[in-house]
Amino acid sequence: MAEECIFCKIIRGEIPSDKIYENKHIFSLLDNNPIAPGHTLVIPKKHFKTILDIPEQELCELIKGVKKMTMAVVEATDAPGFNIIVNGKKAAGQLVDHIHFHIIPRFKHDNIRYECPAIKYKEGQKQEIMDRIKKVLK
Ligand code: AMP
Ligand code: ZN
Repeated sequence: MAEECIFCKIIRGEIPSDKIYENKHIFSLLDNNPIAPGHTLVIPKKHFKTILDIPEQELCELIKGVKKMTMAVVEATDAPGFNIIVNGKKAAGQLVDHIHFHIIPRFKHDNIRYECPAIKYKEGQKQEIMDRIKKVLK
């Protein structure tokens, strides 16, 4: 709910934040629990939970903001790389139910790790999942 949403409260100015930038559509701030210096969040001003909920026009404005902020963060931190992360729903680690992009400056030997061992498909599983996704798209 937008009423109780922490990001909506930040946008409305009801709670303080390390705001970096805002325009008509988006708001950008430093994450208050950063995993790297310059860890930045970009959020739409309107409350939508995930990428599945936000209308395409709003999403275009959001992704334009993500690119603008990524350019700024990378240049300001001199980072040789960056991650852009979006968590969708609780099962994927989304803690704040207001869609947001994380921009994380990355450096060699920065000790940030994503432990994601690749899985092996079981017999027939790959074809089945491909067919199911294609069917949804029809
Ligand atoms: P997620 O797990 O993708 O929902 O990430 C939510 C992020 O929001 C976390 O990285 C938090 O540290 C960050 N966060 C939560 N509350 C605030 C706040 N008041 N100001 C800045 N960042 C916040
Ligand atoms: Zn919200």
